[in-house]
Amino acid sequence: MSSPNQPVPFTADDYRARMTRAAESAAAAGLAGLLVAPGPDLVYLTGYRPTAITERLTVLVLAAGQDPVLVVPTLEAADAEHAVGAPALTLRDWTDAKDPYAVTAPLLDAKGRFGISDNTWAMHLLGLQQYLPGTSYASLTEALPMLRAVKDAAELERITAAGAAADATYEEILKVRFAGRKETDVAADLARLLTEYGHSQVDFTVVGSGPNGANPHHEAGSRTIERGDMVVLDFGGLKHGYGSDTSRTVHVGEPTAEEQRVHDVVREAQEAGCNAVRPGAACQDIDRAARAVITEFGYGDRFIHRTGHGIGVTTHEPPYMIEGEEQPLVPGMCFSVEPGVYLPGRFGVRIEDIVTVTEDGGRRLNSTARELAIVE
Ligand code: ZN
Ligand code: ZN
Ligand code: ZN
Repeated sequence: MSSPNQPVPFTADDYRARMTRAAESAAAAGLAGLLVAPGPDLVYLTGYRPTAITERLTVLVLAAGQDPVLVVPTLEAADAEHAVGAPALTLRDWTDAKDPYAVTAPLLDAKGRFGISDNTWAMHLLGLQQYLPGTSYASLTEALPMLRAVKDAAELERITAAGAAADATYEEILKVRFAGRKETDVAADLARLLTEYGHSQVDFTVVGSGPNGANPHHEAGSRTIERGDMVVLDFGGLKHGYGSDTSRTVHVGEPTAEEQRVHDVVREAQEAGCNAVRPGAACQDIDRAARAVITEFGYGDRFIHRTGHGIGVTTHEPPYMIEGEEQPLVPGMCFSVEPGVYLPGRFGVRIEDIVTVTEDGGRRLNSTARELAIVE
């Protein structure tokens, strides 16, 4: 039974279907299989998220035509059995007295090339290679960049809910005092609000005031926000296991004509990027559409990052909206559209929404006002 606040739970069948598709995609890419260590790919494929990731080997082995096997330390086996996807898995546990690589090696084609999850510890790969000198490996993200990119209805429901929670956070942050408080104080407000609106994990709370806003990587520091500042806000995290990520730029008191103009340019660029979203468009088309507006108004060299990134069980993942990425958009993909202009030593502006691809075009999952908001 689901309520508006609780999404429909994933089932073992959902995870079985994901694992089958992953194994088939691996085979189609010329791989003998996939090795998936704890992290976002394992969560996506099995629902299993070990409470602590340790030096003990845990790895999912997937190969086409073979039942999925999860190699786990014996002391973690009971937890793994409780993962929603566990009925779709064969568990192979190993005790501390055993060599986990000796347990895992017989599961693999000794001459095969495998996709391996990006966050697998090097010590585990080196351990396996001692038993399997004839195998070779490719980064899972490089080999199958679209593995998690197309979201099904249940995933979209979660990303939509995460976006709504981020929107509610923004509406509330407009009511707090900015002038005279430190960036870290406003960042703490953002984290508290995201949590109140149902996030289980806060990934980032950027508060870039005045010149700090011109550094896209600035998180939040001890600078005291002043009247007259532009303030870039960029925040998100995970709710029900799926990501939110939105940016708005606000102004403390009345903006100057130049501040308003730069904001208008970024808003128009963000609109152009969102309007370019449709099935079959290339990822780079979204970047080009947004960048063209900023370039036209003379700020092309001040837009110093890609236009967007995918979002799902993490807040940053493929596909990337960047020049050179020819991957066509497919209904169900979810990604950010977040152009910005950064004027060093002065201020920055960024506006970001998560957009999902539908048959008819892009649909925003953030819907708060994109006009320059005035805060106190
Ligand atoms: Zn100002
Ligand atoms: Zn962001
Ligand atoms: Zn983003």
